[in-house]
Amino acid sequence: MALRPEFELIGSLFRPLAEGAPEALSLADDAALIPARCGQEQVVSVDTVLAGVHFLETDPPGDVARKALRVNLSDMAAMGADPAGFLLAALLSDRLDDGWMEAFHAGLKADMETFGLSLYGGDTVSTPGPFGFSVTILGYVPEGMALRRSGAAPGDDVWLSGTLGDGALGLLACRDDPALAGLAPEHHQWLSERYRCPRPRVSLGRALRGLASAAMDVSDGLFNDAAHMARASGVCVEIDRSALPLSPAARILCQSDARFLETAVTGGDDYELLFCAPETVRDRVLAAGQASGTPVTRIGRVTGPGEGQVSLRDVGGAPFRPRRGGWVHLAGGSGDDGSGGCSPGDAVENAG
Ligand code: ADP
Ligand code: MG
Repeated sequence: MALRPEFELIGSLFRPLAEGAPEALSLADDAALIPARCGQEQVVSVDTVLAGVHFLETDPPGDVARKALRVNLSDMAAMGADPAGFLLAALLSDRLDDGWMEAFHAGLKADMETFGLSLYGGDTVSTPGPFGFSVTILGYVPEGMALRRSGAAPGDDVWLSGTLGDGALGLLACRDDPALAGLAPEHHQWLSERYRCPRPRVSLGRALRGLASAAMDVSDGLFNDAAHMARASGVCVEIDRSALPLSPAARILCQSDARFLETAVTGGDDYELLFCAPETVRDRVLAAGQASGTPVTRIGRVTGPGEGQVSLRDVGGAPFRPRRGGWVHLAGGSGDDGSGGCSPGDAVENAG
């Protein structure tokens, strides 16, 4: 069953999703009209996922839809913004058919409900190349309250939400990497699902307004991203390796082989929040974590002014130097290609 023509696609799949949003003008005009909100700033971001680069062409279409939305929601979380809606640019190839689009639509609809998102509009084009989806997300934050990367100060604590490395180790699991052969099936599956379905920390981001001095989401590996935040803030940071929060599955792997810890520290796709906050608000940060149902762990300290240096060490121990700065396949390959599916039942404790 081939893909139906563009206008039929828009009318049958996307228009129903835009029904609840007056801003979308029923997808019957040239653009959306989004009213300004008094006392708020608009927060806008775009992220694209491409077949063969950010997901596998064979991935379940609903998972592709969810990933396309969630990587964008993670950017909203990192800014402390309340996500409101999005525009969707669909780059469709003739390898897709109506059945694929219906399943994509179902995944999109489910996550729109989970996260309270409106569809404002988009664009539909056909491409001879790999298909993909570009989401432009729009959110709001009270004026002056957005979380930025640039406010960390010497003496601040460094915090991380959730657990570290499940995304990168999950990619190995999705690829059935032989390095994970000894891992129990339930851990294997848990890691794959963490890779397939990021959990954007929207509630935590919102709860950190006025508390965090700097924040960002970890998408390119803790080691790299900590350096980005430190550089933006003009500081250097020290991370305590033994404090890094690991899931049971990641812990088993890291204890079995130090290379897994390297993957966890430098690997991408975690979509956790990395943030700094003054020591004086420690209790309030813990309370923000609890209120948003998100574990938060103190993993280090801003040690002084600097140019983005990150050191990783055991308390009182020798520095730990990951050999590589970004996501690297254990066997020596590289790239951020490949993804599995995400199960509809996956935890989204930060929804809404
Ligand atoms: P034009 O080509 O004149 O810019 P389009 O045909 O691209 O107009 O779009 C018509 C309407 O359909 C617009 O409101 C647009 O936002 C909406 N639209 C097109 N593609 C999508 C999509 N993939 N998702 C949501 N809305 C879409
Ligand atoms: Mg258009």
